[in-house]
Amino acid sequence: SRSEITYFGAGPALLPTDVLEQAAEALLDYQSTGLGIAEHSHRSELATNIINEAKADLATYLDIPEDYEVLFMQGGGSGEFAATVYNFVGAWVTRKRRALSSKKTDEEFLNEPALMQELRNAVGSELKIDYLITGGWSQKAAAEAQRLLGPEHVNIAADARQSNNAKFGTIPDESTWKLSKDAAMVYYCDNETVDGVEFPGFPKCLEPGPDGTGPIVVADMSSNILSRRIPVRNFSAIFFGAQKNLGSTGVTVVVIKKDLLPPKTPQPSAALLRKLSLPVPPIILEYGTIAKNNSLYNTLSIFDVYIAGQVLKKLLRSYPNKVEGQEAVSEKKTQLLYGALEAHPDVYKVVPDKSVRSRMNICFRVTKGGDVDAAEKAFLKEATAQGLTGLKGHRSVGGIRASNYNSITPEGAEKLAKFIDAFAKS
Ligand code: PMP
Repeated sequence: SRSEITYFGAGPALLPTDVLEQAAEALLDYQSTGLGIAEHSHRSELATNIINEAKADLATYLDIPEDYEVLFMQGGGSGEFAATVYNFVGAWVTRKRRALSSKKTDEEFLNEPALMQELRNAVGSELKIDYLITGGWSQKAAAEAQRLLGPEHVNIAADARQSNNAKFGTIPDESTWKLSKDAAMVYYCDNETVDGVEFPGFPKCLEPGPDGTGPIVVADMSSNILSRRIPVRNFSAIFFGAQKNLGSTGVTVVVIKKDLLPPKTPQPSAALLRKLSLPVPPIILEYGTIAKNNSLYNTLSIFDVYIAGQVLKKLLRSYPNKVEGQEAVSEKKTQLLYGALEAHPDVYKVVPDKSVRSRMNICFRVTKGGDVDAAEKAFLKEATAQGLTGLKGHRSVGGIRASNYNSITPEGAEKLAKFIDAFAKS
């Protein structure tokens, strides 16, 4: 039964039982309306209230400044690999167009062959997106950018595999990053779910200058959002799928600086993009469209937004000092688990470098007895027998992965730490 297991799966992840119990009731009859929450119109006042409350609670919990917008989107983290490309390339084109002639509109530009030629030249020689590849998910994001835009516009500013025997597990020193001048965005994945690599903090070389301006930085925080304080102002955008620390599968959140949305930064027209041989974004991936409609351009799963909202309310109730409260708990659980592994260096080998080990996805090998395969099978079998489930590593890398998301209680982490110790001694 549910109360007998602790599930360490990487996502979808465990959700708090009380949130699910309440959601089960809401699914049948929401606030005595006689209709379940998944049956109510997404255009109803009730749906709008759910969206607005979840946005406000997220902003409170993470200290998101007023000049940032929160969007609920669909298509998952993978959809955002494409959305970030379309939207930030669009913003770059708008900046270039204005730099060439600040007063002229897209339409007027199209009728000025000399200006169009200059813009086309700029796209050809200067348009770059920078990717820091530190694991499977940033690698996938970069591959999507290459597919959509063409490899000539994608600059791999760093690839962790180059200095680590073709394997992930490190973050290359910032001094080795080859960043482009005026990149449309610098993209990285804050926590690599498969490889267990997490940025220890915001990269120094991407910090804004004293005047507040800096590179356009975009981060995928799908697997570590809500678990530590983030310097939101350093980012142009952050995105995360809900299915790890926030809620159920089905919604993806984008936190984006309003300056990068219309009216301040309109997206180029489809006609202009076509003339520049750049891809035209599907409207459903356009941040401006989603923002203008308060995330209701099309039918959004209000049920999933509701679950996310209830998780946020629970976090706000549990931690008067908001995300810092959760951060402290995460830190304790992490130390307990890595501590248990490190106490037995002859039995366990943590995969990533100590300086970049993830607090959320703890990836290790079981080397006991020399036959790793047999040792890991035994580890998983005995763990499952004790109700510790979901520990198998991602199929692409193997090994063991304990996902230590917010819903893993300190007691759950302690149970696993004890098992790690007992298995080593057995
Ligand atoms: N980014 C990260 C860091 C992830 O962990 C995942 C999924 N586990 C994704 C992106 C892709 O998300 P989705 O499956 O929702 O497309």
